Amino acid sequence: MNPFLNPITGIPFLKRFLFDPNRIKRMNPQQLEKYRNKVFRKIVKYAYTVPIYHQKYKATGIHPEDIRGIKDITKLPFITKKDLVDNYPDGIIPPNYDKSKAVVVSTSGSTGKPVSVFFDFSVYSGGIGAAIRTFLVHNVSWRKSKFANIGNFSPGKADEAVSRLFFTNAKFAYSSEKYGTFSAFEPIKEVMKKLDAFSPDIMLSYPVTYQNLAFLKNKGFGKNVNPKFLLVSGYVLDDYTRSYVEDAFKCKMFNGYGAAETSSEAGVAFECPQKTWHINHDYYHVETIDENMELLEPGKIGHIVVTRFFGKGTPLIRYTGLDDWVKLTDYYECGCRLCTPTFKDGVEGRRNTSIILPDGRVFPSASFAILSVVLNEMKTRKVKQFQIIQNKLDEIDILIVIDEDLRNKDPPIDTLFKKIKEIYQEKVGPGITISVKEVKNIKSDPNKPAPLVISRLSQKDWEIIIEKSK
Ligand SMILES: [Zn+2]
Repeated sequence: MNPFLNPITGIPFLKRFLFDPNRIKRMNPQQLEKYRNKVFRKIVKYAYTVPIYHQKYKATGIHPEDIRGIKDITKLPFITKKDLVDNYPDGIIPPNYDKSKAVVVSTSGSTGKPVSVFFDFSVYSGGIGAAIRTFLVHNVSWRKSKFANIGNFSPGKADEAVSRLFFTNAKFAYSSEKYGTFSAFEPIKEVMKKLDAFSPDIMLSYPVTYQNLAFLKNKGFGKNVNPKFLLVSGYVLDDYTRSYVEDAFKCKMFNGYGAAETSSEAGVAFECPQKTWHINHDYYHVETIDENMELLEPGKIGHIVVTRFFGKGTPLIRYTGLDDWVKLTDYYECGCRLCTPTFKDGVEGRRNTSIILPDGRVFPSASFAILSVVLNEMKTRKVKQFQIIQNKLDEIDILIVIDEDLRNKDPPIDTLFKKIKEIYQEKVGPGITISVKEVKNIKSDPNKPAPLVISRLSQKDWEIIIEKSK
């Protein structure tokens, strides 16, 4: 049965649909904390029925009754990626869980083994308010807009699961005319052709896919692709890509942060018109830890730890499996009139997309994309795509793809490359070889966008340097 037509799931869903998106506007921090305490207690109780959580909580002598509110969260042990992988499938859902109504979503496995979790309708309907909130905050009517989701629709991936479990059931709100799914991994001209026929108002995709679409747009492709609003997901957006794409499509781009395991439709955080990264604090609790799994104070950069308050399936409480780094703030009264905790300076990339130098300095991918600054300062658009590869501790390559039509425009290529080399050399210091190289194209794995930064260093290399630099 379509869960929307079922009175038991259907009515609560409609309530969520109408009231949840504005919750962070309606409630002051005290009311919001009260709400969070309530939903947190509920999810801890649920998790206690799930074998892996049950064992862990028992082992530390914790019972759900000991958890009065979110401030007690530190009494609970962390749940790791390995916990989920090792206990899949039956250890990560309650014993009586109806698997036939669930979908299994797997991460892309960019770091180690992919993680698989169970999602069901309760996850999508529970998080719908967070999804709609993104549009409300930007004053975009999701009801009237045509939405193009350009992502990974291979079976078992988060995008495919959302569209199967949620949108196919939600035809009353999102007709197929209004909601289109497109594979980001087809040849880019093919993607543009399909988008042209669809003519979207809102698009959601990866930075590198946008970059390639923007390149085609500049060449006159996609006459009917004139979106009003672009949402970015999954990867860090650097300043050059941002302005390149915004120029090409003549509209603004905004980041969202989420992951396959958390629910890719209801983001953990989103960027508002003021470019503040607001945490969806009524849907998630976010903490940060250092290398030794010690909790960090707000304002310090650390590994993100996420708790999801809504939905059943596989619960996530103090989940450490997302490799991103953030700097948290307390409640922040933003110019957009929302007051939530935030990610200060956005999200920084994963370790295998970060650069580490022999002296222990670490540059997450977006902060190492400093050529963005040079390209913007030189007011050039001749770089079609770029990638930074750390081959060895003291050897970094910067790969550049040049737009053939702009090749002979100013600034000359050698001036540009010299400038790029200079700023990198200045950033990393002497003793490290920086090579700026022109390439015809940038390769990526099938069904994965090309990362901005690639590190060829091993985990061991990282550990040695981190150890040495203390
Ligand atoms: Zn804001």
